[in-house]
Amino acid sequence: MTVDSACIFCKIIAGKIPSRKVYEDDEIFAFHDIHPWAPVHFMLIPKSHIPSMAQVGPEHEALMGRMLVLAPRLALQEGCNPYPQGGFRILCNTGAQGGQEVQHLHLHVMGGPRPWLKG
Ligand code: AMP
Ligand code: ZN
Repeated sequence: MTVDSACIFCKIIAGKIPSRKVYEDDEIFAFHDIHPWAPVHFMLIPKSHIPSMAQVGPEHEALMGRMLVLAPRLALQEGCNPYPQGGFRILCNTGAQGGQEVQHLHLHVMGGPRPWLKG
């Protein structure tokens, strides 16, 4: 498990910065976004400090698969409405031109009734 002591999301995982936790297991953590765009907006992150999707390799296949498989279940649990009338959006900003602000890999999961603040 890699930890970057300067990383805000590593601090959230460690409980050094408070968050509204959605889910936790041995390798994945999920918490509500502090500035939600949508009625439901949480982040799914690996506990290990991977800076972005640009650093993901074959060794992360199982972890990334688990995160994607978890997303729909947590989306419904957190109040997204069922597919197809409801649904959700999964977003993963990567790098400066990809709009990434926090350099710890995260999947945004957003949903709930429109309109949304953004997106
Ligand atoms: P991105 O632009 O994809 O890097 O998204 C970073 C997200 O992290 C933004 O939507 C922020 O609102 C969110 N964020 C930053 N700090 C915190 C925090 N302390 N707790 C929860 N969400 C945060
Ligand atoms: Zn980190």
